Amino acid sequence: MDIQNNLSFLAGITNLSLGFLVWARGRKNTLNALYSFVALSVASWCFAVVPFRSALDPADSLLWCKILYVSPIAIVTSFLFFNFTFLSQERASRLAHFLPLFPALGILTLTLWPGMVIQEVLFASGEKQIVFGPAYPIYFIFIIAYFCWSFIILSKQYFNSSGISRMQIRYVFFGTFISANLGMITNLILPTLGIFSFNWLGQILTIIMSSFIAYAIVRYRLMDIKIILKRTLVYSMLLIITFSVYVFMILFSQNLGDRNHSEPTFRMFLSALLVAVGFEPLKRFFQRATDRIFFKSEYDQKVLLSRLSTMMRNTINLEKLCKDLTQTLMTKLTAKKMAILLVEEEPPFVIIGAQEGFNELVLALSSNNPLIEYFNIQGVQKELLVYNELKKQSEEDPSDRDLSVLIREMEKLDTTLVGPIYIKGRLIGLFFLGEKRSEDIYTEDEFSMLEIIFSQAGTSIENARLYKRVHEQMEELKKNQSEQLMQSAKLASVGELAVSVAHEINNPLTGILGFTSLLLSEMSPDDPRTKDLKVIESEALRSRQIVRNLLDFSRSHGSKKEPVDINGVIRNTLTLIQYQAKTSNMNLIERFAKDLPPVHADADQLKQVFINLIKNAFDAMPKGGILTIETSTLPEKPLVMNSAVHESASEEMVMIQFKDSGMGIHPDHLQNIFDPFFTTKGRQMGTGLGLSISYNIIEKHGGRLEVESELGKGSNFMIKLPALSHQGSRNV
Ligand code: ADP
Repeated sequence: MDIQNNLSFLAGITNLSLGFLVWARGRKNTLNALYSFVALSVASWCFAVVPFRSALDPADSLLWCKILYVSPIAIVTSFLFFNFTFLSQERASRLAHFLPLFPALGILTLTLWPGMVIQEVLFASGEKQIVFGPAYPIYFIFIIAYFCWSFIILSKQYFNSSGISRMQIRYVFFGTFISANLGMITNLILPTLGIFSFNWLGQILTIIMSSFIAYAIVRYRLMDIKIILKRTLVYSMLLIITFSVYVFMILFSQNLGDRNHSEPTFRMFLSALLVAVGFEPLKRFFQRATDRIFFKSEYDQKVLLSRLSTMMRNTINLEKLCKDLTQTLMTKLTAKKMAILLVEEEPPFVIIGAQEGFNELVLALSSNNPLIEYFNIQGVQKELLVYNELKKQSEEDPSDRDLSVLIREMEKLDTTLVGPIYIKGRLIGLFFLGEKRSEDIYTEDEFSMLEIIFSQAGTSIENARLYKRVHEQMEELKKNQSEQLMQSAKLASVGELAVSVAHEINNPLTGILGFTSLLLSEMSPDDPRTKDLKVIESEALRSRQIVRNLLDFSRSHGSKKEPVDINGVIRNTLTLIQYQAKTSNMNLIERFAKDLPPVHADADQLKQVFINLIKNAFDAMPKGGILTIETSTLPEKPLVMNSAVHESASEEMVMIQFKDSGMGIHPDHLQNIFDPFFTTKGRQMGTGLGLSISYNIIEKHGGRLEVESELGKGSNFMIKLPALSHQGSRNV
């Protein structure tokens, strides 16, 4: 057996195996059955060429020749039926399907009829020559017409379809198109022109077709084929051109007469030269042409990767990072929608980093969502989920419940692809991609690209997130400080004002009180004016009290500080209000910490603060209630949670709480209660100075006065003072 026969035989085996594979994968499927029939016909064509070429007897040769020419009838007809099945929904009458069978049967009869299509086989020095009969042109037209018909149907269907079926058509179309065209040139057109030298080549070239289909089927992931498809297309076109050049050379030299005919070496040399010179530029031309025509959306992945990684390195803002990633990838991948979800360790657990086109409500998945659970398994890094593949897997194993849960979840979100974002094995986010605008499927290359991008994105997102957290803490710190500063400024200015006003008022008040008591002492108690004078006196006394308060307020820095036992000061204070507590139906609960460290303070001033707070609590419980006074120690939490400064910034504080079960404070009032003169008690009852004075005193002791309150339930005033043991470094 010579090399051509060997290769034809191999092509036959390949096609036969392919036919069997397709049939085995979908026995009940008409499409599969028809494709198997195509493959079988191609295989018989490949096999038939072997005995035809090797037969020594003219009768045998003629018989095999007929079989060789019958096979293409089966190929084109079964291929046409195969394509009809693609279109089956569109065609109205099923009967119409069978019409093309009649011409095929006619041609078959003609081919087998002695002398009609094939008259005789001549033994020549090279390949056997065939003498065609009068019906050969009909045969010729039939084959070409049926192939054209098939390809028209396929291309029409290609443009009407989307998703997987579009990709499938691509394979079928290009695989068969290339083989069919090459085969027609070498085995139909050239023999018609009397050139039989390549009468075996078409068979070998069917390997192109079978490799296409085989690859698509065996790997199932249809996406990979793109690159192979591209290369095959380019090289096949080059092959066609090379052959055409060669054929042209032969025809040209034959036309020139016997002069050049006797110099085959020269012809070979010339065509080889032409091919060698033209090969590279031609290759580039076809590469560009196929890219332009068939793979329009191609983009340079390397450029995209480097652009994105620069962006990720330079972006510290979390929102911007997610947004830029989403928009760039969406545009480049021509996805209809995309989203990045960030998984947090604390509530709300899942936040939307960025999203375009998704339903936000559906997207705001909870942390026990099956998709998150699927990816979030400690120490396991999963690959991305592709909807089509899950669907295929679940068709093969419908009992897999986990799979159907994932499928349902992806359907709910209307997403084609879900991928994890890990950092050191920990899931920190998910990305979602909708289908492509072209409805094509994502390629294997794109999967790898996304995996690379999101492994880098993990680090960038984590950095941006840390940065955001620190930034927020800094802002909070600044805000707290400025609030404190504002409050201090307010108090300081009021203090200054108070001192000047107090002196101005005190003098006339002393006069008023002095003259009132003089008048009262001179008047008989029965005098009707005594009542009015008493009112003047009590109002003047009230005014003096306010003035005293104001003076206390501004004088507080001139205090004397010493180590003070807070529990003792509170007990002392309570003795003062004991009577009032009893009469106003108050229940006092004392919860004093045993080993409370002392604080460096002015006991009198603290007493004033405690009295203010207790008095306010009583006012808040006009019908009685519970007042809990509690002391404790607590380590002061540093505001910036940075592990480097954590330990050293911690200080022991003494906390004193006054919790009442009173009316509580309206949220709108909360930011005003420490303001001087703010009161809700009316002019007669309140001065609005108690809390601002208390705040001022506590602040001057290096502590803080804070409040928590719930309307209708009660308030909790908390005093935090630095414990003495830690005050060494503090300037007191
Ligand atoms: P005054 O007691 O003279 O009104 P304060 O400065 O002591 O002045 O208090 C300001 C305001 O804060 C009060 O008028 C009241 O509205 C509110 N307040 C203070 N303590 C309490 C409390 N324990 N429960 C409810 N409201 C309170």
